[in-house]
Amino acid sequence: MKKFNSLIELTKAFDTEEKALEHLKEIRWHGKPYCPHCGHKKVYTFKDGKLYKCAKCRKKFTPIVGTIFSDSKIPLTKWFMSIYLIVNHKKGISSLQLAKDIGTTQKTAWFILHRLRHAANTKSFNEPLDNTVEIDETYIGGKERFKHANKKTENTQGRSTKTKTPVLGIVERDGRIRAFKIADVQTETITKKVRENVAKGARIMTDEYKPYRKLGKMYKHDFISHSKFQYVNEDCHTNTIEGFFSQLKRSIVGIYHFISPKYIEQYLAESTFRYNTKEETGESRFDLLLTNCSGRITYKQLIN
Ligand SMILES: [Zn+2]
Repeated sequence: MKKFNSLIELTKAFDTEEKALEHLKEIRWHGKPYCPHCGHKKVYTFKDGKLYKCAKCRKKFTPIVGTIFSDSKIPLTKWFMSIYLIVNHKKGISSLQLAKDIGTTQKTAWFILHRLRHAANTKSFNEPLDNTVEIDETYIGGKERFKHANKKTENTQGRSTKTKTPVLGIVERDGRIRAFKIADVQTETITKKVRENVAKGARIMTDEYKPYRKLGKMYKHDFISHSKFQYVNEDCHTNTIEGFFSQLKRSIVGIYHFISPKYIEQYLAESTFRYNTKEETGESRFDLLLTNCSGRITYKQLIN
């Protein structure tokens, strides 16, 4: 395995397309190439080391067929730099900045970032969250206060979903995080998400917002009171999830300026991926995202 703990080391380790392709092969196939068309394991290798042919369906393929890197003329070395930047920049990176850093158009950089966010939506963090779990919701978008008074929608500040998209965050303290775009903040919606993601018997902490109240039947439930007159147990708080949300909002305002509600899930995938791999080294974060790059998404699917 290649070692690289900085962008300069990464670009030295993968200074040619051939080296990048070798690394992708290693991560994707572990020395056992298979056919991306039919899944068959007996394949022939051509001498150039790039082209393969399936013994069963007879189709030819390269190691990038069936990955998010196919159907684009972007060199793998630029994809690799982009992966490094997206997983290691604490607040993410804008398409404008990425375009400058890797020398592409902004449209290409936008496309790269969206494909990488798709890959960040990993299934490898799927075990239920357990022990002490903090749950909270936030609202993204719809900056009402920037609108003119006559264009403001009534009752849109705070917990209203008229112009904002609700996001539910669930985090295991000292563990992993999940964040979901949700259709509404009704008891039913929230309860379903929590049950799908939190282990039975876990100790959960939420504020006193009504949709959380029924969760006490399934979990040990501690409430945080936002009223300052009430005694609050020191370890009963939702600071972890609130911290994640404020970081997320700072990224959206500072880096992306604005995000369309239809892309919120992708930004959540990117942010939770970074959070969940924060203890990893630069190269293992990189390899983890690279492992997830075998899903394919077209430009059409992205903009629709
Ligand atoms: Zn095949």
